[in-house]
Amino acid sequence: MKKIGILTSGGDSPGMNAAVVSVARTAAMYGIQLMGIKRGYNGLLGLSDDPEDDITLLDLETVLDIADQRGTFLRTARCEEFKKPEVQREAFQNLRKIDVDALVVIGGDGSFQGALRLSELGMPCICIPGTIDNDLGYTESTLGYDTAVNVCVDAVRSVRATSRSHDRPAVVQVMGRNAGDIAMRTAIATGAEMVVVPEMEWDVDEVADRLNSLIAAGNTRATLVIGEHCWHKMKEFDWRKFLNENGKKVYEGEPITAERLASILKRKCGGVEVRATVIGYTQRGAIPTAYDSAFAFEAGNMAVRLLNRGMINQAVGVRHGRVFSMPIADALNMQKHFDKELYELVNKL
Ligand code: ADP
Repeated sequence: MKKIGILTSGGDSPGMNAAVVSVARTAAMYGIQLMGIKRGYNGLLGLSDDPEDDITLLDLETVLDIADQRGTFLRTARCEEFKKPEVQREAFQNLRKIDVDALVVIGGDGSFQGALRLSELGMPCICIPGTIDNDLGYTESTLGYDTAVNVCVDAVRSVRATSRSHDRPAVVQVMGRNAGDIAMRTAIATGAEMVVVPEMEWDVDEVADRLNSLIAAGNTRATLVIGEHCWHKMKEFDWRKFLNENGKKVYEGEPITAERLASILKRKCGGVEVRATVIGYTQRGAIPTAYDSAFAFEAGNMAVRLLNRGMINQAVGVRHGRVFSMPIADALNMQKHFDKELYELVNKL
């Protein structure tokens, strides 16, 4: 192993830079050259906006300061073209042309699929899970998840303070795509009284009943945390008709939002002022927590050590709190577990 490449792909997540630094430091220790490939798989294909800048040498001096930078120094992007077998073959050939012996991919399940395709063509790959969503079944945690949760916890605590001051319930939407992990962890860490997630069917009337009973018991500042894709699991309810009939103009085709849910709850809960907050990119652009930084250090280190030992096509993850690896193909086949008991507890206690 003389030269390896590294790229970040899919959505950016806190800790990606720290992982790149760790790979660079470990590679340097073994005398391996590291090439940084910019903008995900685009950088392997000359498809990015700036092809001149697609591939750069990442020596220790280059990476010295990037661990502290937010976002991803290597940039990231999606690359639809890369899903085509002929484009994957081209990327493989391009890596060979610059004598890259192996590739480290930091990203989510889509990026892992891309790495798997390259590994099938004969390019040894190691994957590091970089996504705030924590939606990969084989690992307890992904890079950036802990940071995203901490951003949300901080935000919900602030919202709850104002909710308390004004005796107003709140709806807070967090990210996570189809995984409710950020929503769940934020809810239990902040003592939020209600949570809805994309994994579980939920009913607006049940949420309203719960809020009404909390208000009746004297809790006038309850928080409902919602995962961003929870709408797919909302039980049939003609919310546009309901709002139009209850004094709120809603347009045909308008999508449901946290704001609209707050308006519905207000009208189903005796007119109490329910306010909505949507937490967005602040989750992705945050400085990594100690947990994510340490995970990045260990994952980056393990990635290079695996390659050096000839253990190829592995996905690095966390199991029982420890960094481990398993074959990428097996990692992608592992089902994600959702803790229904914990979910029910939050909505009941
Ligand atoms: P994430 O990696 O965070 O899950 P995406 O699903 O958007 O994000 O995937 C990131 C990139 O990975 C895609 O833009 C594409 O380049 C590559 N990719 C995704 N799915 C596949 C696939 N089935 N085969 C090959 N490459 C893929």
